[in-house]
Formats: sequence, structure tokens, C-alpha cells
Amino acid sequence: MEERRKLRMGMVGGGPGAFIGPVHKMAAELDGRIELVAGAFSQSAERSRAAGESFGIDPGRAYADYREMFEKERGRNDAIDFVVIATPNSLHLPVAEAALEAGFAVVSDKPATATYPEALALEAAVVKAGLPYALTHTYAGYSLVREARAICASGKLGAIRKIAVEYLQGWLSKPLEQTGQKQAAWRSDPALNGPGGCIGDIGTHAFHLVEYVSGLEVTSLNAALRTVVAGRRLDDDCNALLRLKSGASGVLMVSQVAAGEGNGLRLRVYGENGSIDWRQEDPNRLRVKWVDGAEEIRHAGGSYLSEEARAVTRLPGGHPEGFIEAFAVLYREFADAMDAWWRGEANPVPATLPGIRAGVRGMRFIERAIESSGRESWVEF
Ligand code: NAD
Repeated sequence: MEERRKLRMGMVGGGPGAFIGPVHKMAAELDGRIELVAGAFSQSAERSRAAGESFGIDPGRAYADYREMFEKERGRNDAIDFVVIATPNSLHLPVAEAALEAGFAVVSDKPATATYPEALALEAAVVKAGLPYALTHTYAGYSLVREARAICASGKLGAIRKIAVEYLQGWLSKPLEQTGQKQAAWRSDPALNGPGGCIGDIGTHAFHLVEYVSGLEVTSLNAALRTVVAGRRLDDDCNALLRLKSGASGVLMVSQVAAGEGNGLRLRVYGENGSIDWRQEDPNRLRVKWVDGAEEIRHAGGSYLSEEARAVTRLPGGHPEGFIEAFAVLYREFADAMDAWWRGEANPVPATLPGIRAGVRGMRFIERAIESSGRESWVEF
């Protein structure tokens, strides 16, 4: 690869009216190391063309089908370097497999696949291809999540005893899918979404945050999934008890029928000496409380923060960073992973960037939670 050229990204999904595809473009391009040059943005050729136009790409590179994109791009000397997958979940595996087979690295939105067996197949494909794969658990990109992770890793909290994670949304409080609303429609269709509704859509984010920040793996769980809204085909509300390595216990509460809530993700980790408390809707403040000391409020951008937090901070304190900047941190680390891969490094994906292992664990979490709920009992992870 020539020196410092931008990485070329091809997108699958992200057509007109899509939620996360345009966010991927903004985040990927924020640091000037990546550019969107191609896409199969929709399953409709016309809509894919319209999206390509709105994104300002060469009209000849707005494809009607992702397989056509991979085939045509392979033949170009300015071909895409990697593919971002921003489609409904059931397409994550086939698109990722086809991309890897064609020699393109992958950034996929979560959950990794639609089912747990698919995640194992994807893991095998990633290993076989030997190409970088990243999973956009966006919240891992916030500087104060990195600070929380560094505090846990430092041992300052002492042994971790309890973790409480909640992710509360209210947008599915009514049967929105019956109105044809696009995001609600595929999320409540098991064939497009997979078997875990709310537990898959936002439960995997909450689960990932627990393991990512605490550094502890969940070893067993007892979950209760419910469908609150009449006629809905998948769960929309879930509570789970967790046991973690080291003997800590956890509580996970996720819901998409928590009326009035927006994107209420909150993580609390309690150790023997103190605790941390982070909320996604107030992401530039991290509360740290000590059993024998005053409560601290750490601010994003603070010069006193850990190296891990400062490494992903763009602005001085008092200048809020948010969702897109956090997303962009993952893309910056992915660009680093691509550089490392080009240099021939054996493990190019940095430990801070969620990868295929996080993807497999997330899908296992959904599968185990459904099993536990059906059996009304604890299950091993
Ligand atoms: P969406 O319905 O808004 O967008 C999906 C897009 O995929 C649409 O443009 C649709 O036309 C396109 N698509 C469907 N089939 C296609 C095909 N065969 N070829 C090409 N394009 C096709 O959905 P969304 O809310 O943006 O979610 C997309 C994915 O992103 C999901 O997996 C979801 O879980 C994930 N997501 C992640 C986050 C996050 O915080 N990381 C947030 C929202 C959504």
C-alpha cells in the first residue's frame, strides 16, 4: 500500500431513511483516514443509486447487490479495502463471509450475526481469511468508558463485587412495527432479526459493556424475557441476573417498552473500595465514589484522566464529545488495525476494539438468555 492514502470503504446497507449507515460514514471519515467510495446501500437498485448520490460517491460504484460490489471492486486497482455492514442482522453473516472470501476486511454492526451458530461460522471465516474484523459496539469508543475500564484494570476499586447495567428505551412502547416503521419492522421479524428481540438489539450492548469495562466474563445467568406489546413476535423487555468470574454478581435490565426513555444506558461497577457510574446520555461525566473518600466527578478531556482515556479524546475539557466521536474512535482503531495487518502483524486488531470474540460472546449471551428464560432457571454460559 502506498504511504498514508485513505482507506477505501464500501458499505452494505445505509440506504435512504436508514439509521446507522449514515452514522458509519460520518464516523469513519471523521479522522481523515477513511473514505466511503462504494456501496450496495439497499436491495433496490434505484434506492442504492439515490443513496450513493446523497453520499457523493461515483455513480458507477453504487451497486444493486453486495455480491456485485465485491466482484466489480475486486477487479479495480482502486478497489475498496474493507466493507462496513449496516443491514438488518440476518445479512451480517452472508455479507461478511462474501466480503472475507473476496479479500476485504470487515467492520460489522452488532449483533455479529442473527444466531449463535452463525457467529461460530463467522468466527471460522474470520480466522480462515486472516483479515481484520471489528464489531461496532459504539459505547466502547467513549473516552470515559475507557477511563472506567482503566480504573477496573488498575485494581483501585479492589475486588469487584457487583455490576448493575441498564439499557432502557421507550420507542417500542406501542406496536410501531404495525405502522410499517422500517427500523421497528425488521427488528420484530425473527427471520430478519434473529430470535432475540430487545435482548439482542440492546441487551448485547449492555452485556458487552459489562465485560468490556470490568474485564470479567459472565459465567452463568438467569434471564426473564417478556413480550409486553400485544402481537409483537419477539421479546421487548428483559431482566437478568448474572454471575461473573471472580464471584461478582450482576443485574442486567433492558427494555424497549420503558415509556419515555431515549437511550438510557447506564453502567455501575462496585468494588470493595469504591465504585464507578457512567451514563450514555451524560457521557462526558464519570462518577467515581470511594468508600473512604469523597465522590469524584471526572470530566471528559481532563488532563488527570488515564492514558487510555486521553488516547481517545479529541477536545479539551468542557467541549462535549458524543455518539459520533465515540463511533469514530472505533474507526480510528480499525484504521490502525489495517495498518498493522499490512505490516504483517499477527494480531492486528487492538484489544480495545471489539472484534470477533466479542461478537461470538454477544451471540452466546442472546442464546443463553433465551434458553434460561424458557427454562425459568440458571444456565451456564
Ligand atoms: P435500518 O432499517 O435503518 O437500515 C438498514 C438498511 O439496510 C436499509 O437501508 C436497507 O435498505 C438496507 N438493506 C436491507 N437489505 C439489504 C440488502 N440485501 N443489500 C443492501 N442493503 C440492504 O436499520 P438500522 O437501525 O440502521 O440497523 C442496521 C444494523 O445496525 C442492525 O444490525 C442494528 O442492530 C445495527 N445498529 C447498531 C447501532 C449501534 O449503536 N452500533 C445502532 C443502530 C443500529
